[in-house]
Order: sequence, then structure tokens, then C-alpha cells
Amino acid sequence: MNECAPSPATRLSAALASLDAQGLSAQVSTSPSVLETHSHGEAMDAACLPGAVFMAESTEQVAAVLRACHANRVPVVAFGAGTSVEGHVTPTPHAISLDLSAMTAIEEVNAEDLDCRVQAGLTRQALNARIRDTGLFFPVDPGGEATLGGMCATRASGTAAVRYGTMKENVLGLTVVLATGEVIRTGGRVRKSSTGYDLTSLFIGSEGTLGIITEVQLRLHGRPESVSAAICQFADLDDAVQTAMEIIQCGIPVSRVELLDSVQMAASIRYSGLEGYEPLTTLFFEFAGGPAAVQEQVAATEAIALSNNGRGFAWADTAEERTRLWKARHDAFWAAKAIEPGARVISTDCIVPISRLGELIAGVRDDISASGLRVPLLGHVGDGNFHALIITDNTEPGGALALALDRKIVARALALGGSCSGEHGVGMGKLEFLETEHGDGTLAVMRALKNTMDPRNILNPGKLLPPGRLYQG
Ligand SMILES: Cc1cc2nc3c(=O)[nH]c(=O)nc-3n(C[C@H](O)[C@H](O)[C@H](O)COP(=O)(O)OP(=O)(O)OC[C@H]3O[C@@H](n4cnc5c(N)ncnc54)[C@H](O)[C@@H]3O)c2cc1C
Repeated sequence: MNECAPSPATRLSAALASLDAQGLSAQVSTSPSVLETHSHGEAMDAACLPGAVFMAESTEQVAAVLRACHANRVPVVAFGAGTSVEGHVTPTPHAISLDLSAMTAIEEVNAEDLDCRVQAGLTRQALNARIRDTGLFFPVDPGGEATLGGMCATRASGTAAVRYGTMKENVLGLTVVLATGEVIRTGGRVRKSSTGYDLTSLFIGSEGTLGIITEVQLRLHGRPESVSAAICQFADLDDAVQTAMEIIQCGIPVSRVELLDSVQMAASIRYSGLEGYEPLTTLFFEFAGGPAAVQEQVAATEAIALSNNGRGFAWADTAEERTRLWKARHDAFWAAKAIEPGARVISTDCIVPISRLGELIAGVRDDISASGLRVPLLGHVGDGNFHALIITDNTEPGGALALALDRKIVARALALGGSCSGEHGVGMGKLEFLETEHGDGTLAVMRALKNTMDPRNILNPGKLLPPGRLYQG
């Protein structure tokens, strides 16, 4: 390192001066409360204040920020809604947090082609509210009030992935600002194309480390003619998991199949006022399609549930009741947090091939008993994906115990041919598992891509890729 090299603080000042010279100082904030909001995501433990926050309103402004930061070697951390849970948005000191949440325009809706183009800061809830009268909807539904850009960057999914897929399957194209400030478009509006490298997929899940997404071309879906929701309770967790596995293995096209174990269900009954249900392990189902198809799915699902000692279906007949049930499911994290107000909740996210789910959950249950911790379990079990919400006090030994359990659960999933994250992503929290999951050779290719696309390592440094040798070409 050259001794005369400017310090990180000097480089940040130079980048801000360059933005000021371009008439963009009104977009910059260094107010303590704004810096604090941008110092962490939902994982409060990994906070670090950025040097400044830039509130972007257009692709051109994002490009100006990246040009200034590239020239001055200033780290840039994209910030959508900050709901990610693995330390993704935690900046390095003297970084610029680039907030895209004001970029909420819907640029076009092509109802006849079932697609739309939106700015990256729009939330999926706002999109669905604004396109309601087209009869179309966007199905990917993570629990937080996330932005579509953030959802692309984490390759998010949710309760409807079992039927509609994740962000990977529902994004047709992107506008991306590269590290140098150059703007590119990937993909397009067509449903398939066999031309060139699939750069859209490369940016989906790249966690702000390869480029900043400013616009997203999304697939939309027709609202189904008929929707039914039901819940089925089980005295035994294994029976509920077996039911979910058999439903998927039989190819029943359920729209959603979600599990809440008895600890989570008790918390959700209290938090979401789910009167009339018992604190037992519960599967939430949704069926959609034409009335005859729905009836067929329901009959097949109910038969499987009953053969696994399910206590019968309780139907949510009205739209209001369905909304109440799914809101309770989406609020499960907050319900778990409310079990011990002020406690910390570590949300483990792992996924295995569906046939190994029973084995994984049985092992996890033993790990939880051995730990003595209180841990609600819930999951998008139709995908083989589940979360353990590890509740811990704010002491150091409590945190260490919780982290040890988290690591044990993830190691179990990897040993069963799974992945250390089904949907939350890597951020900083899952870095240590990447080598085991992907192997050296694959990580070397990922590092080579990063080096090519961001040679000055300004884009969300320290996330997604564990530090390691540079690719030797
Ligand atoms: C209660 C709760 C429930 C959740 N449930 C789910 C769930 O069911 N499924 C699921 O997948 N996740 C879930 N999450 C996690 C989180 O909501 C998702 O990871 C979400 O996709 C993050 O979106 P965001 O807008 O908040 O992104 P942020 O947290 O702001 O950013 C996430 C990452 O994306 C990068 N980024 C953000 N915007 C852009 C952009 N425009 N261009 C490039 N990079 C960008 C950031 O730098 C960061 O690395 C949940 C979180 C909470 C708190």
C-alpha cells in the first residue's frame, strides 16, 4: 500500500464533492438518524454507519454515484428496504449507502403479454395494489415489505414459490448500472431466448456485488378463477412434514403449503389473534385454479393429510379469512419475536431436497432439545425450505449458544445435499458455508466474475464471497 494513498475518509469526501459539482448534493444525507437507518438490515448485530446516504431517484443518478465512487474507490452498498437478515446492507466505514426506495415508478404494464417494467425501489405490495384492476398479480411474496430490486438481489421467494417459482423464474430482464457507471439492459420481454450468456440470472441473487439494478421487467400472472385456503392440524410434527412431502411427491399443484410447528402456532395465535385454532403443528394450504381443478387438489390433499393423522381441514371460506390466515403466516417472525420481548431472534434458513426434509427436521428437533433454547420452526415446506427462529437473550453466552445451534442446523442441511440458504441469501452471515456448498473451483469462477465486473471491489465489499485467492487465469 502506497503511504501517500488517500484515506477512505478523503476518498469519500472527493466522491461527495464530485456529486455536489453535478448538482446532486440534495440527494445526499449525513444526518445521524438517516445514517443509523442505513447501518444494518433486520440483523441488528452487524451494524456499521455508512459515511453518507444517497437517495437515488433515477438510473442516471445511480450512474453518477457509481462513476464518482469508482473514480475515488469508495464502497457502495445498495439499500432497498433493509429487510434482509444476513447483514447484507451493513456498510463498511466511509461507504455510500445507495438507497433506491424512492424509485417506485411503474414504467409500463403490458397486460396482454403478462409483463411489466418497474423501478427497483417499488415494493411487491405496492405493485400488486396498483395493478389490481388488470386482473394480474406478481406472486413472489417474502414476509418483509421488500423492494423488487432487493428481492432480485437476494433471489427472494416466499409462500407461493411452490407454484409460481422464485425471483429467478419471474424476472425477464433488468436495467443494471455497472461498477464503472455504465448502464446495461439484460434479457427483454420475451418468455424465452437462447442468445448469449444469461446475464439476468447472473444479477439475480448477486446481492449488490456485481451491479445496481434500477429497473426490473417482471412476469405477471392471471388471478386464478377460484382460490381456497384451509389449515390442517397435527399432534405430531413428523406427520405434518410427511404430509407436505407426499403432496409434492404426488405432483398435486398446491399454490401454497406452509408449516408452523406447535411453538410457532402458539405464538401466532397470541400475536395475530388466530382464535379457534389449537397450538398444534399446522399446515396452511392454498389451492387455486378453475373450480373443478381446485376440488380435485383439495380431495387429494385431504386424503394424504388424513392418512397421516391430520385432524381434518378447517376452511377459510371468505377472502377476509384467507387474508387473515396469510397475514398471520407472514407475521410469524414478529410473533416469534413477541415470545420474549427484547430478545434477539436468529432466523436460520436452509433447504434440502424434499425427500430429506423429514430426516432434517427430526434431527433439528433433537438439536433444539439438546440446546435448551426456545425455537419455533416454520417453513415453505413444499420447497423443502424451513426456518428455525432461534430466540436468545442479548448476552454474549446466549448469542454464542444460539449461533452454535444455527451452525449445527445448517451443517445438517448441507450433509443432506441441501443449501445453506433457500431464500435469505449469503450476506455476511452465511459466508463460512460457501466453500463447503460450492467447492473451491466454483468459488474461483465466482471470484473471477467479481474481479472482472468490479475490479476495484467497490460494490458491497465483503458480502456473498468469502475472502480467498484471486482467480489465476
Ligand atoms: C419478517 C421477515 C420475513 C421475511 N420473509 C422472507 C421470505 O419469506 N422469503 C425471502 O426470500 N426473504 C424473506 N425475508 C428477507 C428479506 O425480506 C428479503 O431478503 C428481501 O428480498 C430483501 O429486500 P429489501 O428490499 O429489503 O433488500 P435490502 O435488505 O435493502 O437489500 C438486500 C440485498 O440486496 C442488495 N440490493 C438491494 N437493492 C438492490 C438493487 N436495486 N440493486 C442491487 N442490489 C440491491 C443490497 O445491497 C443487499 O445486499 C424476510 C425478512 C423479514 C424481516
